[in-house]
Amino acid sequence: MSWEENVRKVEPYIPGEQPKDKNIIKLNTNENPYPPCPAVRKILDNFDEDRMRLYPDPDSDVLVSAIAERYGLKKSQVFVGVGSDDVISMAFMTFFNSYKPILFPDVTYSFYDVWAEVYRIPYECKPLDGNFRINPDDYKCENGGIIFPNPNAPTGVLENTEMIEDIIKSNSDSVVMIDEAYIDFGGESCLKLIDKYDNLLVIQTFSKSRSMAGMRIGFAMGNEKLIKFMNDVKFSVNSYTMNHITQLCGAEAIKDEKYFNETVNKIIHIRENTKKELSALGFEFTDSKSNFIFAKHRSMSGEEIFNKLKENKIFVRYWNKPKISQYLRITVGMPDEMKKLIDVLKEILS
Ligand SMILES: *Cc1c(COP(=O)(O)O)cnc(C)c1O
Repeated sequence: MSWEENVRKVEPYIPGEQPKDKNIIKLNTNENPYPPCPAVRKILDNFDEDRMRLYPDPDSDVLVSAIAERYGLKKSQVFVGVGSDDVISMAFMTFFNSYKPILFPDVTYSFYDVWAEVYRIPYECKPLDGNFRINPDDYKCENGGIIFPNPNAPTGVLENTEMIEDIIKSNSDSVVMIDEAYIDFGGESCLKLIDKYDNLLVIQTFSKSRSMAGMRIGFAMGNEKLIKFMNDVKFSVNSYTMNHITQLCGAEAIKDEKYFNETVNKIIHIRENTKKELSALGFEFTDSKSNFIFAKHRSMSGEEIFNKLKENKIFVRYWNKPKISQYLRITVGMPDEMKKLIDVLKEILS
């Protein structure tokens, strides 16, 4: 008998590339091109390194309080984690323990099946329709839980909250998680439903709309009971997940509503302009309500455009997977980056 037989084997998630070369136009991991709000700079400038001797607050109270205040919730309705990847992973461990399969779309965030595999959770993928839309009836069968992003990734397609409420209502025996990583770029959050449904968990992140992907802050909002169960699991794995300086920066970042609205609106504006330019070049795309555009070209293959952009030091994301192998996922960057993208695409396509 070999020890290898007892290894928890799993095929890991592959994150988008983080190139060392500073000259690369990086439109491949949906980072925000704007810096975090100015108050974050102040926290960093005034930070006393002696504080590092001490463990951070295991409850992340300053951050939890700031999030609760921002969304009009009780602190007991907010769970924070090291990026929403950490939050979702904890939520899978906490709520998806049934022998029945959990459900998520066939085209979606490619971390869900990895978590399901690593935690040995059975799962079933429900096909999106030809326009990458969810059919709510697919989610009205026996299941051990449900998760999908809204807007979906990598399609950017937004579903309305009435349809999602229908799914939540029809599944009172399982936890429904809505991964709202991109909701701030033009969608309506399901947060308004958490008091009505005790099986709804809404998950958001500071990585996209708050320009803090490198800090690693994610959070879940839901019924107090759900949050308590998640904290019980978290404190059974690692109490000190989020460091002190991150807690302080996050708490400041969520208070600056003005800066948040300004930068989010700029990104929406650039996104819509870029859609027009791409359309003129023969691209077709979904009506993305996120900080990326999911586009395919009428004649040139997705893989070819991806490779040619890369040769020109422009990185976007491409998946050689069923249904989406002709598409590119292009993060919305600064106006000058989008101009360069369009110029290079013109050359490639000419
Ligand atoms: C980016 C993203 C996440 C993870 O974000 P974190 O950086 O871990 O907060 C989760 N879900 C979706 C759909 C995403 O696109």
